[in-house]
Amino acid sequence: MDNHFEDQYKKENPGSALKVNRGVEGGHEGSPGSASRVTRKKTKPKFSTQQYVDGILACDRTMLGRAITLIESNAQAHQEQAQEVLKDILPKSGNSIRVGITGVPGAGKSTFIESLGVKLIDKGHQVAVMAVDPSSSVTRGSILGDKTRMERLSRDPRAFIRPSPSGGALGGVARKTRETMLLFEAAGYDVLLVETVGVGQSEVTVRSMVDFFLLVLIAGAGDELQGIKKGVIELADSILINKADGDNIQPAKLARAEYERALHYLQPATKGWRTGVYTASSTTEEGIEELWDVIKSYQSLTMENGVFQARRREQSKEWLHAMVQEQLRTMFYRHKEIASALPEIEKGVMDGTIPVTQGAWELLNRFQK
Ligand code: GDP
Repeated sequence: MDNHFEDQYKKENPGSALKVNRGVEGGHEGSPGSASRVTRKKTKPKFSTQQYVDGILACDRTMLGRAITLIESNAQAHQEQAQEVLKDILPKSGNSIRVGITGVPGAGKSTFIESLGVKLIDKGHQVAVMAVDPSSSVTRGSILGDKTRMERLSRDPRAFIRPSPSGGALGGVARKTRETMLLFEAAGYDVLLVETVGVGQSEVTVRSMVDFFLLVLIAGAGDELQGIKKGVIELADSILINKADGDNIQPAKLARAEYERALHYLQPATKGWRTGVYTASSTTEEGIEELWDVIKSYQSLTMENGVFQARRREQSKEWLHAMVQEQLRTMFYRHKEIASALPEIEKGVMDGTIPVTQGAWELLNRFQK
């Protein structure tokens, strides 16, 4: 383990709940990467926990937005109050379908979410849209950052679009999104859409926080199966071949058949459910309604056979362990004894004078003392 990892970890996890930074303003209110601009002043919560809770339960959009900001803050005082708020609203959470949506940039995820979202609102649903984009601190919100991409939806008071929390490692971004989902549910949002880009580890993370996972693809690249990792297909509960309009209808149908064949050889992502491939156009809206029907059948089937509830329970347990691991790691690398011994042990390991296992034991012994 080199220092780079440690530095990176510290940088990316400035607000770990176990870090003693009480009284330090992490600063948030929509200022990306503000955790690095630490100012030494007391953080005094602006609203009482009860005010946040009442606001959320009354679906007061302003208070809901503020509560999300509280969750996203890296200041310890904010994190502590956020946990109190969460504890109070927890009994009112859970009543939703959580849908994850992944696909390469340009596949049409935003357009799809807008077209589906508007339809759902017309049906009387309340729709919350979130994103998990750990790169957004660098790219300043590459997804959902530009709200004009969901113009109709962002104007509608029955929808709430929240861009990805910025300035953090995937673990931190995922925690914030998971907790934000609970707030939305307590406020009465019954369809939660979580978008993520189809690169790297973020699909696996989003899969672990949603009930239904949709992979959005486009046809016509000629290498239908090559651009997409097999692992991502295995996570999907449905595959949508988007942009099935105009000249693209035929290639989309071909792609559909090809993916259907490929799926024959894979385990379904959800027990008892057959992952299907569908075509749609997010611009003409052809096929969008049908895809919603698929999601609804999935929900009734998995609720009936108990898979839905079992997965959510399992997800909570996994999340607990992930948080413990993350925080233990932070504590370990912040430990004074470790920090002072690490360079020498690293050198010994690199020079071949200390066996790696012994080096690790040495560090862990110091940590336990
Ligand atoms: P994202 O990066 O996956 O969110 O993709 P966007 O939703 O931003 O879409 C990328 C581009 O594809 C935009 O220019 C959209 O207008 C276009 N697009 C999205 N869905 C469709 C579709 O169903 N048909 C066609 N023809 N274009 C689409």
